Amino acid sequence: MGKVLIIGCGGVASVAIHKCCQNSEVFEEICIASRTVAKCNALKEKLEGTTGTKITTAQVDADDVQQLISLISAYQPDLVMNIALPYQDLTIMDACLACGVNYMDTANYEPENTDDPKWRSIYEKRCREAGFSAYFDYSWQWAYRRQFEEAGLTALLGCGFDPGVTQAYCAYAKKHIFDTIDTIDILDCNGGDHGYAFATNFNPEVNLREVSAPGSYWEDGHWVEVPPMSIKREYDFDQVGRKDMYLLHHEEIESLALNLPEVKRIRFFMTFGQSYLDHMRCLEDVGMLSTTPVAFEGQQIVPIKFLKALLPDPASLGPRTKGKTNIGCIFTGKKDGREKASYIYNVCDHQECYREVGSQAISYTTGVPAMCGAMMLLTGKWNKPGVYTVEEFDPDPFLDALNRWGLPWQIDDNPVLVD
Ligand code: NDP
Repeated sequence: MGKVLIIGCGGVASVAIHKCCQNSEVFEEICIASRTVAKCNALKEKLEGTTGTKITTAQVDADDVQQLISLISAYQPDLVMNIALPYQDLTIMDACLACGVNYMDTANYEPENTDDPKWRSIYEKRCREAGFSAYFDYSWQWAYRRQFEEAGLTALLGCGFDPGVTQAYCAYAKKHIFDTIDTIDILDCNGGDHGYAFATNFNPEVNLREVSAPGSYWEDGHWVEVPPMSIKREYDFDQVGRKDMYLLHHEEIESLALNLPEVKRIRFFMTFGQSYLDHMRCLEDVGMLSTTPVAFEGQQIVPIKFLKALLPDPASLGPRTKGKTNIGCIFTGKKDGREKASYIYNVCDHQECYREVGSQAISYTTGVPAMCGAMMLLTGKWNKPGVYTVEEFDPDPFLDALNRWGLPWQIDDNPVLVD
């Protein structure tokens, strides 16, 4: 049915590529392109012979629009899946526009260099006006709306689990369960244990930036920002058990607040163990999470990049990680004039993911929705010109695809609420 260029070959991309190869009817041809082509070639070798999907590989620096345009023009894909890093979102969108190809990604744009004065002045203005200080926000990619509309192309943003599936759960709740939704709590629980004192489950740089930033939530039409990790709750997660979770800023709150304006409060919580928090605090205190280069023995070193080099590669956690993830949304609202609550969630087992695709559940829960989102675009179910997030599409075919391709969801109509 289609031909897809996949950019990136890390933890998440590897799962998405495995799943595309299980779904050869839709993904007839894929090209895996990344900065380090050896990783693409190794994955191609592993998968060839197990799949009907024709696989090619290419080397590309996705920070360079001209390189991207040459690759896209030569390969002529129906869709570009950006599963590299959020730093590359804008260059890949530019190249897709130049070549007339649909685009999708799994995380919204943030700059690699947060000291860039041009970016910083726009960022500081946004902090003042919007009221949250995360480095990432949708404004950069929403700015492409008119260009994608005029070109008749679709850009699907943030199609992993959270963002991604969580917004499909919101669209489902709005379509099938509630007349009006009052509150949404997104709960991301990782009950997995990899045996290391400290490691991140996906790209350490992106992950540590996210969790060391101030928390924020949406309430009564505006952002409320709080110090990092200052709001803590305990929750008893199905198939995982009791865990401490902390309020974080998270990108889907921004698009949900826009697309579901009736919702009075939207919060995001993520579970963290004490060891993770202690390590993170210490690393932050000594400056290891900084993105500002420091001079060291005649070289410029970016502390967080150096830290990344020391930490275990998230892709290597697969064989060691045991336990389950439980990610979902708790809704309160009204149906036929009566108050009601509902909890839609998925439970995913780290070891089962490893047996199936050689990765732990964090990469799995992101890579499977990426493949399912790509399938929505290749099969024409989610195509409309412009730039959209997942809650703006019909959730039904996507949630059916998740059931079929490894992330079945369930509904609890009597959930314990988070205070
Ligand atoms: P990894 O660091 O494991 O992989 C990133 C990949 O991108 C690597 O293959 C890397 O190549 C490649 N890459 C980086 N820079 C460039 C470049 N300039 N040109 C070409 N390729 C490049 O990251 P993850 O797989 O953990 O994460 C991938 C994405 O998924 C991120 O955007 C992350 O934020 C997002 N994510 C989304 C989630 C969700 O639920 N929505 C959850 C988890 C992650 P190389 O091998 O050379 O370094």
